[in-house]
Amino acid sequence: PRFADLHLSEPIMRAIEAMGYERPTPIQAKAIPSVLQGRDVLGVAQTGTGKTASFTLPMLEILSGSRARARMPRSLILEPTRELALQVAENFKLYGQHLRLTHALLIGGESMSDQRAALNQGVDVLIATPGRLLDLFDRGGLLLTQTRILVIDEADRMLDMGFIPDIERIVSLLPAQRQTLFFSATMAPEIRRLADAFLHNPEEITV
Ligand code: AMP
Repeated sequence: PRFADLHLSEPIMRAIEAMGYERPTPIQAKAIPSVLQGRDVLGVAQTGTGKTASFTLPMLEILSGSRARARMPRSLILEPTRELALQVAENFKLYGQHLRLTHALLIGGESMSDQRAALNQGVDVLIATPGRLLDLFDRGGLLLTQTRILVIDEADRMLDMGFIPDIERIVSLLPAQRQTLFFSATMAPEIRRLADAFLHNPEEITV
C-alpha cells in the first residue's frame, strides 16, 4: 500500500512527505480507509505501530472537509497519561501543519485557567486525560454536543489506571450518533466488553 492510495488531501499528503514517511504502516493502511468511510474501528495495536497517525490523519481529513459551527469541539481524543496526550498533540500539530484546525490539550499538572481560556477561544479537537476533562466539564462551559468523533486510546492502560468509570461518563456526554475509534494493546475480556458497549459494528484490525 501507498499513502497515495488512501485518498488523503494535498495538505495532509504534504505533511506526511515532510515527516519522511514512505509507506503507511499496516494499521494505517487498514484503519485510514475505514475511518474515512465513517466506520467505527477496534484496533489491537501497540505503541510503535504507527497507530497515532492511523486515527489522527483521517480525523484531520474529515474535520478539514467540513466547517465547524461556532467552533465547538468536534473530536475528542482520550489518553491515559499526560505524556501520551502531549505526544498525540505533537503529532496532531505536525500532521495538521497545513490545515487551519485548532486543538486544546486538557491534562493534569497544567493551569486550568489556561485550558479554560483555550476552550473559550473555540477548538476543533480536544486531546485530554479523562480526569481533567471531567474536572473542566463539571466547572461548566465545556459542551460536547458537537463531538462526533471519539478516540479511546490505550484502553488497556485506561483499565489498569481505573479510568473506566470516567470514560463511561464521558461517553454519556457525547452524541449517540458518533464515530468511535478504540485502541488497545491487548484484548482481555474486560476490554472486549467495553469495546462492545462503545462501538457499533466496528472494523476490527489486529496488527
Ligand atoms: P506510534 O505507534 O503512533 O507511537 O508511532 C511510532 C513512531 O512511528 C512515531 O515516531 C511516528 O512518527 C512513526 N511513524 C508513524 N507512521 C509512520 C510511517 N508510515 N512511516 C514511518 N514512520 C512512521
